[in-house]
Amino acid sequence: MTLSGKTAIVTGSNSGIGLGVARELAKAGADVVLNSFTDRDEDHALAAEIAAETGTNTRYIKADMSKGDECRALIETAGACDILVNNAGIQYVSPIDQFPVDKWDAIIAINMSSTFHTTAAALPMMRSAGWGRIVNIASAHGLTASPFKSAYVAAKHGVVGMTKSVALETAQEPITCNAICPGYVLTPLVEAQIPDTMKEYSMSREDVIKNVMLERQPSKEFATVEQLGGTAIFLCSDAAAQITGTTISVDGGWTAL
Ligand code: NAD
Repeated sequence: MTLSGKTAIVTGSNSGIGLGVARELAKAGADVVLNSFTDRDEDHALAAEIAAETGTNTRYIKADMSKGDECRALIETAGACDILVNNAGIQYVSPIDQFPVDKWDAIIAINMSSTFHTTAAALPMMRSAGWGRIVNIASAHGLTASPFKSAYVAAKHGVVGMTKSVALETAQEPITCNAICPGYVLTPLVEAQIPDTMKEYSMSREDVIKNVMLERQPSKEFATVEQLGGTAIFLCSDAAAQITGTTISVDGGWTAL
């Protein structure tokens, strides 16, 4: 399928899943807006590299997804938004009675409230273009829980709930809103959890990967960023026009358990 002529904005896309999804959207022909909170030469170089590889007008716009006005400014600065992928996210692992308040606030802001702000800003553009796709990167933790991840689990369940509301608000328009729920994907976000989890459970890196992370992923394999990009492309296709307000798990069977 071709997404030529469409503008796709992917929040939090200078690394990991966001970057993988952005690459797949550009390969399908979309002009992609990459985003993060930094404004480094390498961020712009990444966008230029994807633009050159795919022949698309892919660019990078800095905006901090922890701030509502910057979320909205990202959409306004892009000037068009046919496909919105809400992906920016952070993680912090701690028992709830020791959970730092600033970490709670940051996770709720970046992982959940940013989706409210970008969606609110993007919907009028989708309506005037007569077509739109909102793809929220939630998590298996949007459907189920793990200990020590109270903020993340709350935020991701919130995103899944918001997905359903937005789908109902747009149900009679050519706009869909869905959530992809990945299991474990070996990205910098997951790499960063390994040392803390090694400490928490007194385990080696290999044992954390096999016995903690992939313990709940029956396939015993990480999902890949390319698979998530492919799922996003499917949600943008005509075949998915009647798929709205739902979740698609890409978790090797985790939530079937
Ligand atoms: P990552 O750390 O590689 O990427 C996170 C992205 O968000 C980066 O581009 C980072 O720059 C950006 N970001 C962080 N704070 C931001 C801010 N304030 N403003 C703008 N951008 C910001 O992590 P990832 O694993 O690729 O995670 C991407 C999304 O996928 C997250 O929402 C995460 O919760 C979700 N997810 C990841 C996994 C996994 O196993 N990796 C599983 C399920 C869901």
